[in-house]
Amino acid sequence: MKEAVAGELAEAYDSRLVDQVRVDDYRYVSGRLVIHLAREFGFCYGVDRAVDYAYQARRRFPGRNVFLTGEIIHNPHVNDRLRAEGIRFLSDPGERADTLGADDVVILPAFGVTVGDMAQLSSQGCTLVDTTCGSVLNVWKNVIRYAREGFTSVIHGKVKHEETRATASQALKHPNGRYLVVLDRAEASIVCDYIRHGGDRDAFMARFAGAASPGFDPERDLVRVGCANQTTMLMTESLEIGEMVGAAIRDRYGAEGLEEHFRAFDTICSATQERQDAVIALLDDHLLDLMVVVGGYNSSNTCNLARICAERLPTFHIAEPGCLVSPGEIRHRPVGAPSTTVGIETTTRNWLPGTGPLRVGLTAGASTPNNIVGEVIRRIGMFANGAAASSEIG
Ligand code: SF4
Repeated sequence: MKEAVAGELAEAYDSRLVDQVRVDDYRYVSGRLVIHLAREFGFCYGVDRAVDYAYQARRRFPGRNVFLTGEIIHNPHVNDRLRAEGIRFLSDPGERADTLGADDVVILPAFGVTVGDMAQLSSQGCTLVDTTCGSVLNVWKNVIRYAREGFTSVIHGKVKHEETRATASQALKHPNGRYLVVLDRAEASIVCDYIRHGGDRDAFMARFAGAASPGFDPERDLVRVGCANQTTMLMTESLEIGEMVGAAIRDRYGAEGLEEHFRAFDTICSATQERQDAVIALLDDHLLDLMVVVGGYNSSNTCNLARICAERLPTFHIAEPGCLVSPGEIRHRPVGAPSTTVGIETTTRNWLPGTGPLRVGLTAGASTPNNIVGEVIRRIGMFANGAAASSEIG
């Protein structure tokens, strides 16, 4: 059905303005404003495919109920459009997965589902449309291999993120499989201390409650470790955590013990890496007054793009064009706030310098379609040059 939905997808998510900005060397000029757009931004190959498959599924099974297990990607605009297409979300109030059967179609999102959820839906006879991204499958392959070879997977990720929960569940496919999820360098340091010196097992388990496989025992399960990561984490942090764990293993078992006790495999996806590299290049190449980063507040890769920018200049992470309320008001997610969609938005006044040349950097996370990016460009253009907001998206 790919060709049948191509026109619909283009109409829903493409932007002529963004196409033009690309042609114009990723620059948009309007009056006193120049916007520099990152050279890699927005929909990644995995998200593109997942959204495409969702539209195809709706067409392919016209008389049947079509469900998503939850958000297909972390973008409210895209999820709402799918709801408008008649696709139901099992995460919505009143929906239940346990009553589904052979007549129902269930779309699995780009970041995958847990082994348990997959088995449950299969046993109920549902038709499954699996959009799990190949880069996520690559992580799973490594985690399964670690488990098979007797290594605990230390996963750099967010323990509540769907992808990390799905990845962790893969470790349990093998009877002796184990996992431990670490969020950041600070948590990795605790793990490294335990590897080097041992420690208080109960305190360790209290610290990592909910982030370790059932029955996890740091004495037994930190002896042979393999590193993996959620595909959308900050690449530099993932690499550093891998090096930290490797160094701890070397300290404990000597360089000659590294092979037997440590495995590492960079599982950041290429789309995430390209977007992070592109925003760093943008910051290096242009003198900017501020950065605008567009993407869902629970989108891991968007939050990490915002983190990179916020180290260099004022950065506003916005979920959608409506967050640009006026030249004097912007709603945004404070950089570094917890990854949730609820109650974290803040408002900043006088975010846009009122006079003189204005140079704005712009990028968008992997779940943000071009029509949203285009509308953000249009709105910043209006505000910079003194017009009020209107709400056209296209
Ligand atoms: S961010 Fe990477 S792993 Fe996730 S869907 Fe996109 S390409 Fe796939």
